[in-house]
Amino acid sequence: MPPADRPPPEKMMFQLNLRRRGISDQRVLRAMDGIPRDVFVEPADRDDAWLDTALGIACGQTISQPFVVAYMTERLELRDDNRVLEIGSGSGYQAAILSRLCRQVLTIERFRVLADRARSRLEQLGCDNVEVMLGDGFDIPAEAGQFDRILVTAAMEQIPDALTARIEPGGLLIAPVGPPSGRQTLILLRRTTAGLVRKELIDVRFVPALPGIAREL
Ligand code: SAH
Repeated sequence: MPPADRPPPEKMMFQLNLRRRGISDQRVLRAMDGIPRDVFVEPADRDDAWLDTALGIACGQTISQPFVVAYMTERLELRDDNRVLEIGSGSGYQAAILSRLCRQVLTIERFRVLADRARSRLEQLGCDNVEVMLGDGFDIPAEAGQFDRILVTAAMEQIPDALTARIEPGGLLIAPVGPPSGRQTLILLRRTTAGLVRKELIDVRFVPALPGIAREL
């Protein structure tokens, strides 16, 4: 293969690390391979974009660690026809990954600056099945309706009933649950005919989910 067609070493390491850490769903690995993470990080962090670490973005927020993005996406068992809600657009990276694996994504962000930047990156990459909304994930407009899958990327003290009420029958929700600077655990909820079934997954560290749209900086 001529050098220009060969994936750069940092991208090969990126894929290798995800596999080594147990990500095995080929669709998820392919989506992670196809979305350029360097587009979503701050310009000063471009060289570190393929490392398996969270990085700072504007408004004191973070773009999640690639392993955690892949893990949460894998646990969501996405199907092509799913309608997905993400709370916490941040950089837009997780939404871009989701966009490759489902029919439609609504992603909500409480900082206007982040929502605007995420929207323009997603447009630039042609992720035209994603809508970025400025709003509060604790107060989702009724018109937004129900979702097959819900992914929360900011830590909640507990998962509000108003949110679980949005899960379609058979649907799944994944969210980091715990105090802002204490132990947070990923919780997976599945809506079955017998009610919500809750499963604890791995411990994680996310920025806290805060109520209301953020005041302009
Ligand atoms: N998914 C993002 C990472 C998100 S970091 C990515 O791929 O880059 C968590 C984000 O959740 C932050 O941008 C924060 O502003 C946002 N957030 C926190 N509380 C929120 C709320 N109530 N509603 C919407 N967004 C919220």
